[in-house]
Amino acid sequence: MRKLLLIKYASEIFLKGLNRRIFEKKLMKNIDSVLKGCSYEFISDQGRWFLYSEDLEEVMSKVKKVFGIYEVCLVTEVEPTMEAISAQAVVEAEDFGETTFKVESNRANKAFPLNSMEMSREIGAVVLNAVEGLRVDVHKPQRIINVEVRKRAYVYSKRVKAVGGMPYGTNGSTMLMLSGGIDSPVAGYLMARRGVELNAIYFHSHPYTSERAKEKVKDLARLLKGYTGKINLYVAPFTDIQMDIIEKCPENELTIIMRKFMMRVACAVAEKYNINSVTTGESIGQVASQTMEGLMVSNDVADRPVFRPLIAMDKIDIMDISRDIGTYETSILPYEDCCTIFVPKHPKIKPRVDLIRKSESILDIDRLVQECIDNMEIYNDL
Ligand code: ATP
Ligand code: MG
Repeated sequence: MRKLLLIKYASEIFLKGLNRRIFEKKLMKNIDSVLKGCSYEFISDQGRWFLYSEDLEEVMSKVKKVFGIYEVCLVTEVEPTMEAISAQAVVEAEDFGETTFKVESNRANKAFPLNSMEMSREIGAVVLNAVEGLRVDVHKPQRIINVEVRKRAYVYSKRVKAVGGMPYGTNGSTMLMLSGGIDSPVAGYLMARRGVELNAIYFHSHPYTSERAKEKVKDLARLLKGYTGKINLYVAPFTDIQMDIIEKCPENELTIIMRKFMMRVACAVAEKYNINSVTTGESIGQVASQTMEGLMVSNDVADRPVFRPLIAMDKIDIMDISRDIGTYETSILPYEDCCTIFVPKHPKIKPRVDLIRKSESILDIDRLVQECIDNMEIYNDL
């Protein structure tokens, strides 16, 4: 008899047909990499994954943050006999106090003499007899005792919700436009959680934005790396582009034209490094440039899917996620960002795609984009 950690991964992985092996292999590798330095044993029993370790609490705290895992359970492994299983079920129930419960059984091992209904009934009866204060409620029980019979049997009643999502690295890649604000790190986290590999680009307006502002973005990228294991950060010099826009384009269109350039550069860098998509932290209506018309204008130059995972979220909810994932405190540090320095007094909130194209046609767009990319700083190992 020993304690193990049962790992339940997203049921969506099951839908992957032939790709399922790829997803599982990736997930296993990701688990292995968060457990680097812990000693543990991996056990597979008829499609269920378990971990054994001297320090299960520590292993659990790490594993529950691995994308693709939706639940972890502390289980007791026992002999696959009704006596051993029932005895352990009683031990579990002794902690329940006065409450309602039911037993849920799962028999993957078809050689076991009882089917799952019979098992649940018999084990339930033993528990009811042995522990005071319990009542059975099969519809809405307060507590559930789970029993799984495979080659060995496993009994548990403690489940811990894990992060969910899909194994990191199984759903293509994205270029996150990472500013120093609250939203973009959250957007990046949400994409990474769905298995999308993260790269990040930051537009830096030296000397109008300080070294500290750049350091802050690097810190945010490092925090995201805590979830992804690796992240490439591209720091693109944006001052020349901004200066040219300010000099030559209508004042009330500065922000929107700037944003279009950010999209151009992000797509071009994505193309150069084989990155499938772009992600931003935009949320509809949040600021003047995040109107439907504004999004149409910046999408005008996108040559790949642009994901905006926060588009329908309220700021207050975005802030909650930001606190949960540990980026909030860094995001609120008060360093200037390139968009706040050059804000027009009356920004256009309903820009028209054709008119913006016309306004910016005076600029040498290709050269500006190319120079920005040529002078980019690249951090592969933050
Ligand atoms: P955030 O909190 O992410 O900074 P925000 O609410 O301040 O967002 P904007 O400044 O309008 O909104 O930016 C919208 C999105 O554009 C950001 O979420 C980010 O994806 C991208 N973005 C803005 N500024 C930069 C920058 N300097 N470098 C890279 N991306 C940027
Ligand atoms: Mg911002």
